[in-house]
Amino acid sequence: MQLYFLGRMFRFSLIVIAILIAAGIILFPYIENIAILMAALFFVYFAFMLVLYYMIEIYIKPMTKITKTVDQLLEGNYHARTQGVIKGKVGELSDKINQLARHLSEITLQEQIQSEQLSTVIENSESGLVLIDEKGYIHLVNRKFASMFGKEVKDYIGYLYYDVIDNEQMQTTVQETFLSGQRVKDVVTMDGDGPKKYYEIIAAPIFNELNMLKGIVLVIYDITELKQVETMRKDFVANVSHELKTPVTSIRGFAETLLDGAHEDVETRNHFLEIIFKESKRIQHLIEDLLILSKMEKDEPQMVITEVHLDHLLEEMMPMFKQRAEEKHIQLEVRNDKVVFEADEDKVKQILLNLFTNAVNYTPENGKVAITLKQVDEFALIEVKDTGIGIEKEALPRIFERFYRVDKDRSRMTGGTGLGLAIVKHIVEAHQGKIEVASEVNKGSTFSVYLPLKHPSGT
Ligand code: ADP
Repeated sequence: MQLYFLGRMFRFSLIVIAILIAAGIILFPYIENIAILMAALFFVYFAFMLVLYYMIEIYIKPMTKITKTVDQLLEGNYHARTQGVIKGKVGELSDKINQLARHLSEITLQEQIQSEQLSTVIENSESGLVLIDEKGYIHLVNRKFASMFGKEVKDYIGYLYYDVIDNEQMQTTVQETFLSGQRVKDVVTMDGDGPKKYYEIIAAPIFNELNMLKGIVLVIYDITELKQVETMRKDFVANVSHELKTPVTSIRGFAETLLDGAHEDVETRNHFLEIIFKESKRIQHLIEDLLILSKMEKDEPQMVITEVHLDHLLEEMMPMFKQRAEEKHIQLEVRNDKVVFEADEDKVKQILLNLFTNAVNYTPENGKVAITLKQVDEFALIEVKDTGIGIEKEALPRIFERFYRVDKDRSRMTGGTGLGLAIVKHIVEAHQGKIEVASEVNKGSTFSVYLPLKHPSGT
């Protein structure tokens, strides 16, 4: 644009000179006085020079500025603007260019914000994301995906997917999507150094406006926790069925034998009926414990928090405890301090009952069980100590699991359901307390439950 104007100025100068020469030739015969002729010519020259100056100021200089601004815009600097006041038509042009530049810079800013938002979403997504083009090259990988496979983003970008994605099952899913052009869903298992991991992969094809396959986007979710919950649920159902099967089979067997004629012998009949009664009690205990557990496992276990006098509570339970201890010739020792704290009274009773029942069940005759209730700092301490069979060190971390028993037969013989400690643990957690176990095989065990004096929810 600048060159165009300079060219025009050059032509304008040539014309001025030509006009001056022509005017000199025309005026020469009429104006003999050379001084007047020169003055006239100078006047004409001056007039033209004024026009020239005007042209430079009004057109050339602003156009030079505008040209520079346009050049900067072309180079991608959308903050460039033409400065200073420019009048007339060129001024209008300058304003329009400034407006255009403003639009461009707004659009670029919006694009930048959108792309930043998109990359923030991609980078912070809890799912792994991979973008593969139609030739199989990886164009995008987020940090989550790289971390899932212990690599870095740069180890993937620009490589062919089958060279860098090591998992064969995942490669097959990508191939299937390329071949079918359909969305493919799969679950991939990975055995690394640590525990087994499960991933759900969704591979979706990307088509352009001509419906041609342009690539694939892979979304990977870590479903290990979900799988664990599913396994736990399956195990739980299997365990409950197994626990119920034994007493039910036994009840059925004895009932059948009775029906087949065994009822005629009074002694056999009474013996069988006693077994049936015992087994039905076992089923009842199991169902009761399952109900307590399922109530405790609700998202918000129903708790009735009141002021609990721990000493009164134990006094209420003592006759039953004494009777059970006496039945097994177990010496019972009690330290019952006056402790008042906020808790669900029935659930605290359940803790005491379950710990005491275990202590008696797993302590041989003539052993000793000591119950201590006292205040320790900001906690009410419930401690049940026995001189029983103890628990092996390896088994200690598992005894709070549902249906876990160190010795299955012994537990069944004592009428245990395998749920007692799981219930205790849930109650302790619902009170935001803690439970500790110290045990030595053939020496005995000590279970210590600490419940906060003030329940977090208040009364
Ligand atoms: P169970 O109904 O079988 O007693 P629990 O959940 O109460 O189930 O306890 C789980 C397992 O922990 C028991 O089967 C037993 O092996 C062990 N256990 C619990 N308390 C004691 C204890 N005081 N002494 C020895 N072993 C114990």
